[in-house]
Amino acid sequence: MATNTLFSKSISLEEYGIKNSKIFYQLTPDQLHQITIEKEQGKEASSGALAVNTGEFTGRSPQDRFIVKDDITADKVWWGNINIPFDADKFDKLYDKVTAYLSEKEVFVRDCFACADPNYKLSIRVINEYPWSNMFANNMFIRPTEEQLKDFDPTWTVINAPGFMADAEIDETRQHNFAILNFGKKIALIGGTGYTGEIKKGIFSALNFELPVFHNTLPMHCSANVGEDGETAIFFGLSGTGKTTLSADPDRKLIGDDEHGWTNENTVFNFEGGCYAKVINLSQENEPDIYNAIKKGAILENIIMDENGNVDFENTSITQNTRVSYPIDHINNIQVPSIGYKPKNIFFLTADAFGVLPPISKLTPGQAAYHFISGYTAKVAGTEAGINEPVPSFSACFGAPFMPLHPTKYAEMLSKKMQEAGVNVWLVNTGWTGGPYGVGHRMKLKYTRAMIAAAMNGELGEVNYENYHIHSVFGVAQPRTCPGVPTEVLSPRRTWNNDEGYYEKAHQLANAFKENFKKFESFANKETLEGGPK
Ligand code: ATP
Ligand code: MN
Repeated sequence: MATNTLFSKSISLEEYGIKNSKIFYQLTPDQLHQITIEKEQGKEASSGALAVNTGEFTGRSPQDRFIVKDDITADKVWWGNINIPFDADKFDKLYDKVTAYLSEKEVFVRDCFACADPNYKLSIRVINEYPWSNMFANNMFIRPTEEQLKDFDPTWTVINAPGFMADAEIDETRQHNFAILNFGKKIALIGGTGYTGEIKKGIFSALNFELPVFHNTLPMHCSANVGEDGETAIFFGLSGTGKTTLSADPDRKLIGDDEHGWTNENTVFNFEGGCYAKVINLSQENEPDIYNAIKKGAILENIIMDENGNVDFENTSITQNTRVSYPIDHINNIQVPSIGYKPKNIFFLTADAFGVLPPISKLTPGQAAYHFISGYTAKVAGTEAGINEPVPSFSACFGAPFMPLHPTKYAEMLSKKMQEAGVNVWLVNTGWTGGPYGVGHRMKLKYTRAMIAAAMNGELGEVNYENYHIHSVFGVAQPRTCPGVPTEVLSPRRTWNNDEGYYEKAHQLANAFKENFKKFESFANKETLEGGPK
């Protein structure tokens, strides 16, 4: 039993099988920051933010993410190498080992919520071995009021023990780390990895199952913001394509940067209470909102700083995936509560390293469905000298690793909602222009921002011959002009100065799309199939 002077409530963890532990319940971020430093698990940066190293893992480990196969999940989950089944008995055994490991130790416990919409509010208890992981939970989930804590009854529990190593042979994991979702018991069990993203993506995956199955609500891997006109914009995209960067827009109120639900009442609500931004090459000039959010209360991960605590954002010696988490109110212009009305524009963000896709194009409903199911971006094959070939990467619904159901389930829901709401759908290439990776360069952030603003303001006009050119390979409508963007930038072919080379790469990418789509062909209708490249 432990009490926290800030809250009159004391809790016990015996019911979880965690015995005789020293419980730090609902500590403030300041307390957790201090304890982390005292334990030498982190340092304070000159900005006041806490800087930690997450250890062996500096990113998620999708191959070690399992779902317990039980009565609830057996015939609903799309099993395979994304949703890997885990035996219920094996889960119980591993659970007992993890809770025994946490017994007699100091543990940090936090009660919080996911889902900003009161109709969907999910109460969560996060039990952490480390204080900074618990501070991460405070940043990323929705913080309860003191009143809400009084009769708090957690529905889901996250147990997070980075120091516990599984024995792959006995525990039937792949290796020493694991993130396992158990829908029957409503537990996310995480061990062997200190990467904090596993905590938030564990609950995201849980919602990606429960919302469509039990509430007929569409969960989305997207960011969202709302303009002065009250219209909401949604930005889908895989990691590194710009969800967090582009949703932080001083002219629009931020709803959230990563995970949202689209309800039957046509509202869009954030699952989270904070943001988790990449900080590689971050500059105050290019991304002032995110830069200024890095202050006391924020947690920097896996960055390098000098003896004065100044962060070198260009240093990727630990990882390219350097991050910062902060409560959403570290951003100035936010929507409170995090709910948007009137979805009007949807942007599919892709970082095309082939430099082939137009920087912005408008999609037909069939193309929208096709691109949503495809979920294309490109991975740049390392930064070592000599490796110049980008690899196309397809992840259904722009978030396959977090989607327990078959992708067409989400796609059908999205198509229906898009039709009912009458939204515009845009494909935005935040990746390469002027040639592929190694030859061209990344699209200037200020141009991407200008294109998105023009699309939302209606400045790109109706799709007709005067305003748009239809791309000969991808069939998408490419605007001929855009305020604030040089005209030649709008046509990827023209930026190459090498038509032959451009079309060769364009066909190569089109073939990769077709190859990937084969597994969905039997599920897709004619309109969707026609939405693919020619
Ligand atoms: P995750 O799902 O991993 O959180 P994300 O979609 O939120 O990924 P961001 O954190 O926004 O991705 O990362 C986009 C990165 O690309 C940032 O580092 C940003 O500075 C950089 N970038 C460079 N050019 C552009 C551009 N034209 N548009 C968007 N981002 C750009
Ligand atoms: Mn993000």
